[in-house]
Amino acid sequence: MEFTVSKADLVRELGLSQGVVEKKATLPVLSNVLLEAADDRIMISATDLELSIRCTAPAQVKTPGGGTVPAKKLLDYVRLLPDSDIHFRFSDTHWASITCGRSKTRIAGMPRESYPELPEMPEPAGQLPVGLLASMISRTIFAIAAEESRFTLNGALLLMKPDTLTMVATDGHRLALVEHPNPLGASGEHRALIPRKALMELTRLAGETEEEIYRMLGLVWIPPELRENRGEIEAAMRGELPVLVELRDIQGDLHLHANWSDGTATLEAMAEAARARGYAYIAVTDHSATLGVAGGLSVESLREQWAEIDRLNERLRPFRILKGAEVDILADGSLGYPDEVLAQLEYVAVSVHSGFHQSRERMTQRILRALENPYVHTLNHPTGRLLGKREPYEVDLEAVLQAAAARGICVEIDGAPDRLDLDDLWARRAKEMGCLLVVDSDAHSVPALEGVRYGVAVARRGWLEKKDILNTRPLAELLAWLQRRRALARPGGR
Ligand SMILES: [Zn+2]
Ligand SMILES: [Zn+2]
Repeated sequence: MEFTVSKADLVRELGLSQGVVEKKATLPVLSNVLLEAADDRIMISATDLELSIRCTAPAQVKTPGGGTVPAKKLLDYVRLLPDSDIHFRFSDTHWASITCGRSKTRIAGMPRESYPELPEMPEPAGQLPVGLLASMISRTIFAIAAEESRFTLNGALLLMKPDTLTMVATDGHRLALVEHPNPLGASGEHRALIPRKALMELTRLAGETEEEIYRMLGLVWIPPELRENRGEIEAAMRGELPVLVELRDIQGDLHLHANWSDGTATLEAMAEAARARGYAYIAVTDHSATLGVAGGLSVESLREQWAEIDRLNERLRPFRILKGAEVDILADGSLGYPDEVLAQLEYVAVSVHSGFHQSRERMTQRILRALENPYVHTLNHPTGRLLGKREPYEVDLEAVLQAAAARGICVEIDGAPDRLDLDDLWARRAKEMGCLLVVDSDAHSVPALEGVRYGVAVARRGWLEKKDILNTRPLAELLAWLQRRRALARPGGR
């Protein structure tokens, strides 16, 4: 026998047979699969004498024939091969020579004649949707008897009638029965006792198509992040599931620090790394001077940074570094830079970095006052929590988000792994209230730019779509948005 088959086809079909092949076979040949080549395909068969599986894959057959090889050994080897065609040749002494590119190996097989005869596969009575079958199995399999002595109870009974499909299982103490309208319609009556191993195998085969199971329930597939029983099933039934934001939707990072303040990398290195990630822009948001601990920038240093940004932008065009800052919200709600400086910044994010122990009332008033400043674009990490280190400060977040929504100020999901703030529930609430969100990294080093990934994960759990997030917009749209907000700040603009 000699044939050529594609690796992808072979791996897929061999994978299906692995559950059937006996691990500790009493009959050594049962740990083999039977390969048979004829016409333009190969047939792969496996059996444990109780359960058999037969799959086919397209192949170019040079010499028809058959042979057997150890199933697990074959799959393990084939998986390692490059994605390409694999050539098989079986010798008269039952060795299989396997060639793929420059890889060549030989596996000892056994003659086809020693492989048990598989039962004839009867004509199918019809095709059931895999999801329907999987759901019926999952609702009965637990009641199947485990004791081998009760042979007839070691499986479930499938009963097909013209209008109903029934599956029953019992172990003598409990009984599970599931009934469903027969989607095949009238096709005579069939009954079969299906052993537990076959049911498990069918479930495993069905597991590859989760979508089918949802479809069977009349639903579209629900992304795992939404499976929290927070209205996702109702939304799916109404066809109103969100199309969740993805990492690749993020066009730029609006929160990162260079070594001008407490970052470890140069602005140039941060910009280069952001560009290498495929971003179109970043906003560098070093701290304002009031934050002593983080080496905040005086207005003078800020102007020096702007000169460097202009130079870098010249060189990195069309990539764009925005002149930004993460400006402290001081204890009384005033900001770390005067308005005339804020007016010259292209992107202004504000955040609380000190005085965490104010009363809820004072903290809320403090942040609300900061949001009244017309130059503010975004409220960063709105609860100030540091996971495992610091609880969120006391604040009426509902009131803060309401104000942000009313004033058109964005709120941030900070991707730094110890912040992840807003969390998923508040992010969803912010969206419901009409806030636009920003998802970014708060990176203080080049590797930390990767944090945006965690921010996106939180956003997805918060039902956010691409359109809910400012920095999914292309540069031109982002600039237009930032400028529109600025227009409101001008006298007479409000
Ligand atoms: Zn911060
Ligand atoms: Zn920061």
